[in-house]
Parts: sequence; C-alpha cells; structure tokens
Amino acid sequence: MRIILGTGNPHKVMEMNEISAASGVEFISAPYGFNPEENGSTFEENSLIKSRAAAKMTGMPALADDSGLCIEALNGAPGLYSARYAGSQQKKINKILDELKNVQNRRAKFVCCMSLVDKDGNIINITKGECHGVIIDEQKGTNGFGYDPIFLPDGFNITLAEMDKNSKNAISHRGMALMGMLKFINDYKF
Ligand code: IMP
Repeated sequence: MRIILGTGNPHKVMEMNEISAASGVEFISAPYGFNPEENGSTFEENSLIKSRAAAKMTGMPALADDSGLCIEALNGAPGLYSARYAGSQQKKINKILDELKNVQNRRAKFVCCMSLVDKDGNIINITKGECHGVIIDEQKGTNGFGYDPIFLPDGFNITLAEMDKNSKNAISHRGMALMGMLKFINDYKF
C-alpha cells in the first residue's frame, strides 16, 4: 500500500520507508512544491497542516509528521522552531552548543506527532513518540540528520548520529510514532 507523505524533507521519507519496509506500506513524497506554512502552535497542529495540505494536493489519504528537539534548560526550545532555529544545520547545532555552554542541565527530548487524514482532510489517526536523552558539548557522528550529532539517547554512550539506521529507528521518536501508526494502518480499511 502506498501513502502520500506530507514533507519536503527527503531524510524523513527515507527514514520512514526504512521503518515501514517490512509492513508493506510505502511512503511517497508529496508533489514538488509542497511547502505549506507551518503556523500551528503545537506539533499536532503542524502535523495536521502538512497531512491536510498533502491530501488536498493529491486527492488521496496522506500522512505527515511534525517533530523537533525540546531542551529543558532552554524552556523547550528549539521545539516547534527546530527546523528554523538558525540558517544552516551547522549553525543550528552551534547555536545550541553556545546556549548550553556552562549549563549543567543537559536533559532534552525529541518529539514527533504523526497524523493520517483521509482525502478530505478528516483525521483518521494520530500517534506520538518521544526519545529522551542529553545534549553533549561537542558533535559526534555523521549518520542521520538534524541535531543527531549532539543528542545522546538515554541508555546509550553514542549519539544518534553514531548509530546505524536500524538502531536509531528502534528508539527514535519517529520510529515510535510510526510503529503505532503502521499497526493501525494494517487493520484499517481505506
Ligand atoms: P519538521 O520537518 O518541521 O518536523 O522539522 C523538524 C526539525 O527538527 C528537523 O529539521 C530537525 O532539525 C529536527 N529533527 C526532527 N527529527 C529529528 C531527528 O530524528 N534527528 C535530528 N533532528 C531532528
């Protein structure tokens, strides 16, 4: 089964297809030019903006996620603004490392909210996932994307960017949200 994915981020499409590979669900990128304004005030609202925009563009059921990194000592920032926190990804990482210089509380979590809507934008299902850990004081590893090189998940002594993709997918916020969604999709009659 093929489902439209409301994202312009090729890393997400890749990660989600890796996670869903065994389930028989394949995610297809939203059409070229997909770039709705993410002006919601929660991860859930932004996720719905994207899934509804993808359903409207294609006339098909669509799924989207909204995700971000929430750092305790920064009152939850960058949070909803994770993708827009600074110019390049390197600048975003540098900004966080600067803001956390000499800060003792390094607790943080990745959050993901995933929504599946029908062709008219009605909600079919919503799932959530979190991955808890700490922000380290230098970047390590080259796998994954985004803030992976500075995030050490609880129970591990390597960053998400030092993990192979299967290990990251087994513990990540997106992996958790998607596993729940795939279980639901398997039993759902479209
Ligand atoms: P979104 O496309 O609006 O959901 O943007 C989420 C942003 O949060 C991404 O651009 C990354 O900066 C960050 N992010 C979300 N998930 C991950 C992840 O799995 N690893 C690292 N960074 C992530």
